[in-house]
Amino acid sequence: MNETRIIEALTVWFAAHARDLPWRQTRDPYAVWVSEVMLQQTQVKTVLTYWRRWMRVLPDIASLAAVDAGKLHKLWEGLGYYTRVRNLQQAARLIVARHDGRFPKDFEAVLDLPGIGRYTAGAVCSIAFDQPHPILDGNVIRVLTRLFGIPGNVRERETNRRLWQLAEDLVKRTCRRQPKGSPSLFNQSLMELGALVCTPRQPRCGDCPVSDWCSARQHSHINDLPNLGPRPGTLQRRFAAFLVRDGRRFLVRHRPAGGVNAHLWEFPNLELASQDDAPREAAQRLFGFGPETIELLGVLKHSITCNRITLEVFALSGCPRLSASGVGEWLTAHQMARLPFTAAHKKIRLRFAPAGARRLKA
Ligand code: SF4
Repeated sequence: MNETRIIEALTVWFAAHARDLPWRQTRDPYAVWVSEVMLQQTQVKTVLTYWRRWMRVLPDIASLAAVDAGKLHKLWEGLGYYTRVRNLQQAARLIVARHDGRFPKDFEAVLDLPGIGRYTAGAVCSIAFDQPHPILDGNVIRVLTRLFGIPGNVRERETNRRLWQLAEDLVKRTCRRQPKGSPSLFNQSLMELGALVCTPRQPRCGDCPVSDWCSARQHSHINDLPNLGPRPGTLQRRFAAFLVRDGRRFLVRHRPAGGVNAHLWEFPNLELASQDDAPREAAQRLFGFGPETIELLGVLKHSITCNRITLEVFALSGCPRLSASGVGEWLTAHQMARLPFTAAHKKIRLRFAPAGARRLKA
């Protein structure tokens, strides 16, 4: 059967070519779990630094369950999608409460934890516990659709179901091989092939261990697969952010719990309604009174999912009432550097209010 030879070829290739990543040096389910959550939406080279620092500061489930929200968010600052880190802590607290602080081995119990879906549960249970559960992320989807010539839109339910079934058949077949194969190594080999060889553009088919059986290669469909359906449109949005200072201190605010980017810090800002929406009026709407002077400091570009954000940064002066208004908090550049900021506002902080800078424009 081709499937058996594919499994054999992939695991042999993985043994010889796998990257030496620190979370592959351990079978600690906590370490694997943290790496998998960080790797969602984030590249390996970025995750390396974050994961090492995280494991130094929060080496186990108990330390994650106990850490305060400020420190937790600071460790995640820059990775984005902050719901992930809040779910990590919520899940850690449940593991302490329900499982005596030990990561559960039962797949259903893992799936029951906040922020853990079928992919993450499959990844942790297969990689850490060597259980035959499938995984299906972007890399695996690319490999499977090309290898088995699956033309359907992968975002549609039927194609998605078929891909999960295929991934499950393969990982289960791994266990039936003689000698018995490892679900952990097989799943990782699929992901690694997608990351290193079967890449979105210009896959290295000449170096691919399964090219002999690859449908897309045989039928010249590589560039058509995977079928991702129509691309979602992008949304152009324009924001004004205001740098208001009182001597060495800047006005910043803490985003409220429950909303987007909850618990993170930012400079006062608001979305402008249109290209004609003037920043002075925007400041008036935000603070309740207009500034004496308003000066454009710079324009930053930022993208989140399909949002293309233009962030115009203004220095305001002549807002004496703001100091006593109770709008936000007044912090020095050094104090701000210790706090987690949203990605866009971290850019503002580093560019216009860096810790260590002597005197910024008043
Ligand atoms: Fe991907 Fe090419 Fe390998 Fe097919 S032969 S699985 S397209 S790298």
